[in-house]
Parts: sequence; structure tokens; C-alpha cells
Amino acid sequence: LAERLQGTLTKIRGKGKVSEQDVKEMMREVRLALLEADVNFKVVKQFIANVREKALGQDVMKSLTPGQQVIKVVNEELTSLMGGEQSKIAVNNKPPTVVMMVGLQGAGKTTTSAKLANHLRKKHNRKPMLVAADIYRPAAIKQLETLGKQLSMPVFSLGDQVSPVEIAKQAIEEAKKEHYDYVLIDTAGRLHVDEQLMNELQQIKEIAKPDEVLLVVDAMTGQDAVNVAESFNEQLDLTGVVLTKLDGDTRGGAAISVKAVTNTPIKFAGMGEKIDQLEPFHPERMASRILGMGDVLTLIEKAQANVDEEKAKELEKKMRTMDITFDDFLDQLSQVRNMGPLDELLNMMPGMNKMKGMKDLKVDEKQIGHIEAIVRSMTPKEKQDPSIMNASRKRRIANGSGTSIQEVNRLLKQFEEMKKMMKQMSNMTSGKGKKKGKG
Ligand code: GDP
Ligand code: MG
Repeated sequence: LAERLQGTLTKIRGKGKVSEQDVKEMMREVRLALLEADVNFKVVKQFIANVREKALGQDVMKSLTPGQQVIKVVNEELTSLMGGEQSKIAVNNKPPTVVMMVGLQGAGKTTTSAKLANHLRKKHNRKPMLVAADIYRPAAIKQLETLGKQLSMPVFSLGDQVSPVEIAKQAIEEAKKEHYDYVLIDTAGRLHVDEQLMNELQQIKEIAKPDEVLLVVDAMTGQDAVNVAESFNEQLDLTGVVLTKLDGDTRGGAAISVKAVTNTPIKFAGMGEKIDQLEPFHPERMASRILGMGDVLTLIEKAQANVDEEKAKELEKKMRTMDITFDDFLDQLSQVRNMGPLDELLNMMPGMNKMKGMKDLKVDEKQIGHIEAIVRSMTPKEKQDPSIMNASRKRRIANGSGTSIQEVNRLLKQFEEMKKMMKQMSNMTSGKGKKKGKG
């Protein structure tokens, strides 16, 4: 995929201006490249249509050549096709959170169960328990137990003479008793989707009432992965997908189509056989990888920097008129994600560096992720007008963002404080400078 695009892009990059013909040619290349990467043809069609519409509909930004503009749109659309944002694993407020791993044989369920347990403990400070519910594949239980031992992680097993449904049931009881907060059920697979397998999985699902039904799919199977995902989703109503074996020379096609076809977010990516080679799936990173064009992305970033400056000016204007919303807030936040704490961020905002007394707003970097998650869990209406927030909305937001109601409350309060402070600031500056009309 990379090579194809690279060729076209190099051609275009040399030019100062790009004709419509160039854009057309470029879109043709993108289309071929995606098809070659095994992306579902319907998805490709829709994708090209979206890109074309966006690329043509937008005013060409001053800082971008039309060619860059197209690349930027391609990149953004790819990201959004794969879900846009990183999608987190569920947390049940009433532990244990039950996660059911499903998928075909060899997809990587057992390995991923252990990897996920490890990830939850290491990165989220959780106490997971693994459950060996694949009683069919010879040595499947042993495999999980070995992994469990390696990690010093408890593995619940009742041998291969008890039904998986019963195993799941008893495992959850055990987890409650022993205060495990995650139960990861490793289920059996088949070589192909069949009714018997689905029936059993549905029964387990009924008993276990999982918070997550994660489909584990082998990214190397390309188009097949999409069909598999579609059938599993129909039968089991998946909550997420784990793409394994993305470490090979896998074409990224599966990642793009799986989300687009099933509308189920990809939550994790398997990047190797080792136990710590599981990563949260980042759509934007995958998009870059699929586009595989480092220098082009740098170009985009550069152009983006100018765009952001314009955004900042716009924000400054909004601040003066006091109609800043959570959308603006989030915009700023994502721009400085990796740059440091929020007080620094505020310092970078035009006008804000003159403000003292920002200490109340000090937020450490780790919290930025939470804040982002909270804001993203708000509906557009809530973002525009936080005053409509009531208890049930807050609970929904807390659940959706994997945070707590306290955290939601804290953010709302901080946001109000920030607005207040901005008001002070704007009074200050407009008092100093020439008198400005309201709005
Ligand atoms: P299951 O039948 O779905 O339980 O699959 P397994 O967990 O037994 O995995 C099948 C094979 O795939 C094993 O050899 C794993 O080591 C391998 N595997 C699983 N995930 C990954 C991955 O992300 N990358 C690579 N390279 N191999 C993987
Ligand atoms: Mg297995």
C-alpha cells in the first residue's frame, strides 16, 4: 500500500499546484491501494466517496497544497473509519467485569486472554482471573494454565468434563468471593463459524452476562476476518475486536474493514507472541501505518501546526465572548496531549499566560486522558451546555468514559472555574485596552 501511494505522492509533491486531474489520479491510486490491502470493496467505495466529498467541499487551506489537502483528508478518513478514537475496555462498577473472548481456532484467544490479564494488572492496576472454558481443544486448558503460571495469574479450571457454561458460572461466583475485578473467559474456537459453536457461546453469554464480548481475529486473514467478524457480531452482539498478528507483514485491510462493516470498535492489537505484546488499538496510528508515509505525515503535521494557530485565534475570540464549550476545550486538550500538564496548556493559550492563580486548575498528565474520555462521552448538547447535566447523564458519562461520577463532577466544576477565570481575564484585558463592544 505504502509504495503505491508513495509513487503518486512524490509526483504530486513536486508541484506547487495540483490540478483536479492529479487529485483524481491520486484517488484512483488510493482506491487501488486499499483494495490491494484487502479492504472490503464496499468500504473502499464509501471511503473514496467520503474523501472526494470532503476534499472538494473544503476550502483549500492557505497552508496546504491541494495534494496535501487530499492526503490529510485521506488520513483523517482512514482514522475515522477505524473508529476515530481509541476505544477502551469496559469497566463494571460492580466488579467483576466479565470479558468473554471469542473467535476461530488459532486466532489467538488463549494468548490474548493472558496478554489482556497482564495488561489489566500492569496498566490498570486490576486483579484479573483467567477462566479456562475451552474444553475441546486438546491441551487448551494446559496452555492457559502455563501462561497463568508464567504471569502468576490465577486460572480457574474445572477440567474438560464440565460444560463451559457451568465453568463460566462457577468462575464468576469464585471471582466474586475472592474479589477479582476482571474475569476473562477463554472460550473454544472452531476452524469455521458453525452453529454448534455459536449456540454454546450464546449459552455462556446468557449465564456470564459479560460486559465485553471481544472477538479475537487474525489480521493476516484479511477479507476473511471481515466475514468472521460479521457472523460473530450477528450472533453475539460483539462489544469489541482484538486484531492479532499485526506484527507480521500484515496488510492493514482487516483493521479498516472490520470496524466499518461491523461497527464494532477495535480495542486492542496483538503485536507478537510475547505476553507483553498487546497494545491498545490507536486508529490514527494505524492510519499512519497503512499510509506508511512518514515524510508525508510530517508535512501534514507542519501544515496542521499553522491550522492550529488559526484555531487558537478563534478560541481566543470565543473566550472573550464567553461562549467557550467543551468542544473547544477538547480541541485544545488533544492538541497538547503530550506536551504537559493543563496549566502549561493554559499558558500556551493566547492571553492566558498573563493570568496568575491558575493553580486550582492544575491537572496532572495522567488525568488528561480521563478528562478527554469524559468529554468524549458527552453528547453534543451536553458539550455545548453543561448546565443540563443531571445525575443520570453524569452516570452515563462516567460509565461511558470508564471513570467515576466524582471525576465527572470534578471536571464540570473545573470547567466552570475556568470559564469564570476567563471572564476575569477578559475584563482585565478589555479594561486595559480599548473598549470593546460585547460579543
Ligand atoms: P486460540 O486458538 O484462538 O486460542 O489461539 P492461540 O492463543 O492458541 O494462538 C495461536 C497462535 O497464534 C499461537 O502460536 C500464538 O503464539 C500466536 N499468536 C497469538 N497472537 C499473536 C500475535 O499478536 N502475534 C503473533 N506473531 N502471534 C500470535
Ligand atoms: Mg485457545
